[in-house]
Amino acid sequence: MNLSNEIGWDRRDRLEALFGVINQDVARVLERSLDHVEMDFDEGLLLAETSGLELEALVLAADQVRRQRVGDVVTYVVNRNINFTNVCFVGCRFCAFSRAPRERDAYFLSLDEVGRRARQAWDQGAREVCVQGGLPRGLVPPLTSVAVRAVAMPRLDGERGSPRPTTAPGSVRPSQ
Ligand code: SF4
Repeated sequence: MNLSNEIGWDRRDRLEALFGVINQDVARVLERSLDHVEMDFDEGLLLAETSGLELEALVLAADQVRRQRVGDVVTYVVNRNINFTNVCFVGCRFCAFSRAPRERDAYFLSLDEVGRRARQAWDQGAREVCVQGGLPRGLVPPLTSVAVRAVAMPRLDGERGSPRPTTAPGSVRPSQ
């Protein structure tokens, strides 16, 4: 289904018209959201399961809320991921990246190399670096802070934890 062709982006009053014909539970949740009322879990689930006209109304309402809150200006941060190792014992199959320690293409970057790549990223315009990698056995827990020091980008002002903050490095963002 080509959803973008089926959404009444440019039809004025399309959302109002949809409110009159769609499932009224969905309409109520959307109308409350447009009034900035936070939805609860069940309401969120209801929206997650919408399709057809209800889904079109959801998309149009979300676009309206987006426009109210942040307008049409899109911003982004130039970021570089530095994968310090591809060695990982987890084998969760989420990626095709992990290697066993003795595989021929397994690697572990030195902290100097992490720092060099971070500085290179800075020189090329990046303003955020995400230092991440696999989970090798015996990884020293405070590697995040060690890696942050290795990055040593000018005017560094922050650090953000990754989903495994005690064992895996997070990202660092220098100030402008
Ligand atoms: S590197 Fe990450 S995604 Fe890949 S197997 Fe390990 S834990 Fe899973």
